[in-house]
Amino acid sequence: MPGCDKPAFAGDLDHVHEYDHDNPAAGGQTTAVGLATKCRMHHQMKTDGVFLDDQYIDATGKARQVFYTQNGATIHGYAESGDDLFPTLRDITFTDPEPPPKPPPPQPNTPESPTRRRPRLADTHARRRQERERNRKALEATGEQEARRAVEDRPPF
Ligand SMILES: [Zn+2]
Repeated sequence: MPGCDKPAFAGDLDHVHEYDHDNPAAGGQTTAVGLATKCRMHHQMKTDGVFLDDQYIDATGKARQVFYTQNGATIHGYAESGDDLFPTLRDITFTDPEPPPKPPPPQPNTPESPTRRRPRLADTHARRRQERERNRKALEATGEQEARRAVEDRPPF
């Protein structure tokens, strides 16, 4: 988290995209690009919706993080890779995992039936997925170069 001074080894591994306990293949992936370290406080703040984050692979194959605050600020940065301590980690190129299989359509009179109200947490996760998708499209529209410039122009935190 930008500005956080807690050591990563004492933090939580957070699924950047929320893990889907009902359908693990469709939720946040437990992969290098699907996980980010956050201290307990910042992890809880994310869970409470104080900010939204996203993590993706850029054109150079490096993991990027983006934080969206409630007051409209967008903070770009590279995901913590540890390559400053272990330079050979730079040789690793991350790739996106295979897309998850589509779940079967809901059957009538089952818990997945459209007549049953979706749990509030599932609504929250769906809203965050939509928000990340919208942010990614906006990022693509403004261009990766602009995002990269934002990373290079900011002071280290
Ligand atoms: Zn923190």
